[in-house]
Amino acid sequence: MKDIIVIGGGPAGLTAAIYGARSGKSVLLFEGKAYGGQISKSHKVENYPGFEEISGFELSVKLKNQAELFGAESISAKVISVTENEGFFTVTADKEYTAKAVIFALGTEPKKSGIEGEDSLIGKGLSYCATCDGNFFRGKDVAVIGGGNTALQDALYLSDICKKVYIVHRRDSFRAEKNLVQRAEKKENIELVMNSVLLSAEASPVIKSIAVENKISGEKSELAVNGLFMAIGQTPLTAEFSSVLPLDSYGYVEVGEDCTVKDGIYVCGDCRKKDIRQLTTATADGTVAATKAVEFLDS
Ligand code: NAP
Repeated sequence: MKDIIVIGGGPAGLTAAIYGARSGKSVLLFEGKAYGGQISKSHKVENYPGFEEISGFELSVKLKNQAELFGAESISAKVISVTENEGFFTVTADKEYTAKAVIFALGTEPKKSGIEGEDSLIGKGLSYCATCDGNFFRGKDVAVIGGGNTALQDALYLSDICKKVYIVHRRDSFRAEKNLVQRAEKKENIELVMNSVLLSAEASPVIKSIAVENKISGEKSELAVNGLFMAIGQTPLTAEFSSVLPLDSYGYVEVGEDCTVKDGIYVCGDCRKKDIRQLTTATADGTVAATKAVEFLDS
């Protein structure tokens, strides 16, 4: 039996593993996809204190190595269920594991836009990860949908390798940080298509154009692009754990700043209901969740 099982190997989960293991507890962490979570796909991280600039992948590797340095173990497997028994938890992944406390750091996944045939467009020009797939569109015209940090960062990244980048955003102002917006506005090959929504993508067999509609004028237009990058937000990956976690109507875990659902169950990172989802707030959550778990184990 482990002291702590951490589910999720993004910045929140890895930080929880660092804190738990550093406190002398036995820690086992599960990651079903890529260590580092969403940050592993970030081309450039510039807002993590201590690093003026670091690739998301490199930062992910550093976090994982640091957790292992303190003795945390990790397994690449998807956890499919967690059940509570008398005084311990059973975590089922590739097989059953037990722990005295569980920290959920489940993260989120990119939202889909809902345009017709969206799934069938994946691999034909539609992507949810600019840094993973941007290179396929080197020298070509692309569009990024969304107005948050991800959309603006994606557009800036793509503008260095693509001929032209449209940012299609449904409002007249961006949710993204000012600094990113100002940089995008200065780029000659980025065009802002504001107050506009994506209607459809034309693929024969790969994407050739997208149709957008200006919500103010009602005017419909076509943008000739080969790449379509969706950056319209995230969905929390909590559905499998609704029997042990209190979820709101969007699927985020309703738990306060103490990251504590009850003795033995802790939640941290982007899957938690909160105002600001950033790398720094995820690692802060990981710290709180692990510290609370250690307090419980020691009590
Ligand atoms: P986000 O901040 O939730 O932004 C989503 C954007 O997509 C918003 O502009 C939203 O428009 C738009 N949108 C949502 N649904 C839409 C739809 N159906 N059709 C068209 N547009 C739609 O998501 P995010 O940019 O992925 O960022 C998620 C979190 O990660 C944020 O807290 C962000 O700050 C953080 N992040 C941090 C870093 C970093 O630290 N380096 C990098 C990337 C992301 P409205 O504005 O109109 O709602």
